[in-house]
Amino acid sequence: METEEIIRALPKVEQHVHIIGSTRPETLLWIINDSGAESPFETVEDIRGFFRFRDFPHFIQVYSAVDDLVSKEAYYERLTYEMLEADARCNVRHVECIFSANDHVRRGLDYGMMLDAINRGIRRAERGFGVTCTIRVDLVRNYGPEVGMRVLDWVGEKGDNIVAVDIGGSEERFPPGPYEEVYRRARGMGLHLVAHAGEAAGPESVRDAVELLKVERIGHGVAAAKESALMGLLRERGITVESCPVSNLRTNVVPSLRQHPIRDFFDRGIRVSVNSDDPTMFGTDMNNEYIQLHRELGFTVSELFKISLGSLESSFLPEGRRLELREEFIEEYGDLTGCDENF
Ligand SMILES: [Zn+2]
Repeated sequence: METEEIIRALPKVEQHVHIIGSTRPETLLWIINDSGAESPFETVEDIRGFFRFRDFPHFIQVYSAVDDLVSKEAYYERLTYEMLEADARCNVRHVECIFSANDHVRRGLDYGMMLDAINRGIRRAERGFGVTCTIRVDLVRNYGPEVGMRVLDWVGEKGDNIVAVDIGGSEERFPPGPYEEVYRRARGMGLHLVAHAGEAAGPESVRDAVELLKVERIGHGVAAAKESALMGLLRERGITVESCPVSNLRTNVVPSLRQHPIRDFFDRGIRVSVNSDDPTMFGTDMNNEYIQLHRELGFTVSELFKISLGSLESSFLPEGRRLELREEFIEEYGDLTGCDENF
């Protein structure tokens, strides 16, 4: 088997993918037709053209246009199902997806009905492809900690399959500090803690997420590479950096994939995972992410498999399931490579 074929076949875990950022152009057209929404798009080609990444402001435009068009809770079922179908095609076996609830509640949608639709999509995908999925709710830092508390109220009342919280949104304008209390409460509710940090802002954003919010994983974390003490802290505390290489390239967080710090993180013993973030908007998928690391940063099959195992170990799956999957992963790796390595 050729190297890239093996990489495609490697069993994987995705820790960082936004449901909205996984919307397919065909599906958006279906939504437009079903809802009868006013829209400048008449064909899938129109939407493909609109989705083609130009620059960061344009990406935000695409993302919020999709947010606007998701005008019925039930649409979330298809979006979630198709996100998982695409992941399953890359042999992703477990997904932890991101749901920005208030983006839609503030547009008039019902939180509980959306959550039900997402879980219907998850169950269908599990039956169809054997992939499992849990949800992390993104409090979106732009709305402020009060809204964060309100979202936690919703999760407290109905938290089916929600395992973690996150703060995405405009990192440079909204630092992590004000979310200390919100994160303390989330931890008390038994939720895992993650924050987008070090993507649009500097290393202090990562440090605050670690020190003040006590996160277990960092979304992106690119800026941590600027401070070796901070990288030491991430390693010591066993914090996973959820790397999204192609996303970082598209949004100019890194000038080229060759300069992406995932290589440095990995070589220093920091746990990293590889993720697609907003795959349909960045023109990527999990196979492409892994293959780019091989092509541009020289990651070997064995190193990529170590990343995959690390993504599984730092997932929020219960221990029993994690160990079960670990056995399956190692067996599959052995079948693919004929290697009998110790992991
Ligand atoms: Zn993200």
